[in-house]
Amino acid sequence: MKSLESKSLVLLRHHLKALRLPTIGAECEKVARRAASDGVDHLSYLLQVTELELLERERKAAERRLKAARLPSLKTLESFDFSARPSVNRVLVSELARAEFIDRRENVLLVGNPGTGKTHLAIALSAAACARGYRVRFHRVTELVTLLIEARDERALLGLRGRLAKLDLLVLDELGYVPASKVGAELLFDVISTAYERTSLMVTTNLPFDHWTEVLGSERLTGATLDRLTHRCQIIETKGESYRLRDAKARIRKPTASVGAGPQEGSIQPPHGGMEGGPRTR
Ligand code: ADP
Ligand code: MG
Repeated sequence: MKSLESKSLVLLRHHLKALRLPTIGAECEKVARRAASDGVDHLSYLLQVTELELLERERKAAERRLKAARLPSLKTLESFDFSARPSVNRVLVSELARAEFIDRRENVLLVGNPGTGKTHLAIALSAAACARGYRVRFHRVTELVTLLIEARDERALLGLRGRLAKLDLLVLDELGYVPASKVGAELLFDVISTAYERTSLMVTTNLPFDHWTEVLGSERLTGATLDRLTHRCQIIETKGESYRLRDAKARIRKPTASVGAGPQEGSIQPPHGGMEGGPRTR
């Protein structure tokens, strides 16, 4: 009896492997023992193991999507201090985290001075979109422009454009730090106009709209780019002082304020300790 059981188990594992059901293969014995002791019927047992397989598949797919998004670090909305940035509408950000704007093919523009949390919010919203099943890719604009120029030189532009077209959300971080070359600006415009009403764009920029010509070169291109980007678009303004600067000032102020405070002195942590670290999970 015992040897028959183990023979069936070997066969079952083989079949499950052929059917690509690894989680059921790993869990079936354990769940079967529990089902037998709880008096669970066959159909409920089958339901339990298939549920485990599905959950594990979804978890792995979310992990793959997050990796494919190539976020520069992992920031979360939980670690974003909204009280430090009153111009940012918390309700709107929570709504964007539900990613319905992606279904509506709307764009998101984050505008504000350096260090005011634009990239932090873009990363957190990208991660939220990945978790909800959307295909996301994060690019710094300068990096994407370089990739586009290289692809064009190598006659591989069609492939790159094809990969971008498969995305649900394309993040363009730091538009405006470096003026694009004429070719670069045109290739970038091509990406933006191809995405129009097909792929959502999330753009972060430190440039007010009336300065975009300085980066994109021509008035015509700037007008056309802004026209596409801002049509059906949510705008978040991160007004105020740089968070990094604020943080640094707080660190300088604190030691004097806490003179004689004892062993804590000199070990003051930033208000959101660990955010500058490497990738973190939610
Ligand atoms: P920007 O993209 O606007 O230049 P970042 O998003 O890179 O700014 O922010 C700079 C640093 O400050 C990052 O480490 C970010 O996590 C942190 N930061 C900015 N704003 C906030 C905030 N409101 N709450 C928590 N951390 C913040
Ligand atoms: Mg930034």
